[in-house]
Amino acid sequence: MQKYVYIETLGCQMNKSDTERILGMLSNLGYDAVDNEKDADLLIINTCNIRQLSADKAYSQLGYWGKLKKNKPSLKIGMCGCVAQQDKELVRRRAPYVDFVFGTLNIPALPDIIKKVEDGEQVIAIEKNPILRDEEDGRIIRAKSLNAWIPIIDGCDYFCTYCVVPYVRGRQRSRNWEQIIKEAKDAAKQGFKEITLLGQTVDSYGRDQSNPDINLANLLKELSQIDEILRIRFLTSYPTDISDDLIDTVASIEKVSECFHIPMQSGSDEVLKNMKRRYTRAEYLDICKKIRDRVENVTITSDFIVGFPGETQEQFEETLSVIDEAQLDYSNTAAYSPRRQTPAATWKDRFISNDVKKERLRILNDKVKASSKISNEKYIGKTLEVLVEEHDAKNKEGIMTGRTRNNKVIHFAGSLDMVGTLVNVKMNEALDWCLKGEIVN
Ligand code: SF4
Repeated sequence: MQKYVYIETLGCQMNKSDTERILGMLSNLGYDAVDNEKDADLLIINTCNIRQLSADKAYSQLGYWGKLKKNKPSLKIGMCGCVAQQDKELVRRRAPYVDFVFGTLNIPALPDIIKKVEDGEQVIAIEKNPILRDEEDGRIIRAKSLNAWIPIIDGCDYFCTYCVVPYVRGRQRSRNWEQIIKEAKDAAKQGFKEITLLGQTVDSYGRDQSNPDINLANLLKELSQIDEILRIRFLTSYPTDISDDLIDTVASIEKVSECFHIPMQSGSDEVLKNMKRRYTRAEYLDICKKIRDRVENVTITSDFIVGFPGETQEQFEETLSVIDEAQLDYSNTAAYSPRRQTPAATWKDRFISNDVKKERLRILNDKVKASSKISNEKYIGKTLEVLVEEHDAKNKEGIMTGRTRNNKVIHFAGSLDMVGTLVNVKMNEALDWCLKGEIVN
């Protein structure tokens, strides 16, 4: 009998990539993915623990699924991802109808877990010692798009004082080089045109290996040999792990997109120190300058947290000013959210009120919007290569959406048969988050 699974994925690209792997494993066990949870025999929520809001969302979704299960007792419900890894047994106390909980490090063991669940067992599988992804059974059911996510390094060794990642995803582990190349070749054979290499600190790839040739720059060079792949991206970079070789590789290898996503988190040295980020404002600015000097038309994007414990108004203003100074093209923003197990969560006497955090976030978001428009305006009148992705989000007749090599979103007149091809587009108008243009020969 055919079985159906629905997976709700919260959080980052790494979670989306994990979901693709989980779907691949479940497909081997006879499960087809469905888009509607009411059609499923198996429901899984892949959770994110980066902020309290995301964790709350996961439990609220489980609450809804619990009600579905009352009408369909055979329904199996599971939770995985970063909240599962941290909450362990607590999940079943908060949501006793959950049949299985598995951590970020237990994905390779999923086939065994599902067999037990199908036999009526309740399973809590939270591994402390990482099992390498390369021990998974290898099948991946990728989301329908031109881009294939390929994780190349898991976990993180940095232990920033606000971040839960090292506790829920473990220490840094680079994946096997050959396995990555194989996955990229498989994606190319399936028709994917672009690959994005993923890691919390993607530029640290290979640091835990004895062979110094195993590094991100060399991996990009090797992957660029795959004919069918038109573009290669990578994220997220830790500022001080960006090597000169990596910058030169981005500058010189045509298929590697000219983009660096480099979270800075704060423009204040004092706050950076409290966050245990291992660079100063001046060092971050130097890295951006070095990249801009060597890589033409490069896009540099960042992440910032406002309202970190003890952040003063002056320190917040240093974050605002660094966006201009570093000429950042775009930034993700968030208000600080205390996370269990992390040192900063215990600094309650220095917590910033929610009202102040909200107001700083509003001001920062206005700044990011302005910086994005300034960045887009630089390209008016220029012709850039665009990978055509789809009809534009509002489905306007004849209007296509694509992205430039440096990740700018472009809208232009075209047709569906262009999807997956490269076209040259002249930029005519800059909006806050995208550009409009026209195809030229
Ligand atoms: S480097 Fe990134 S993933 Fe690692 S601890 Fe810091 S914020 Fe978290």
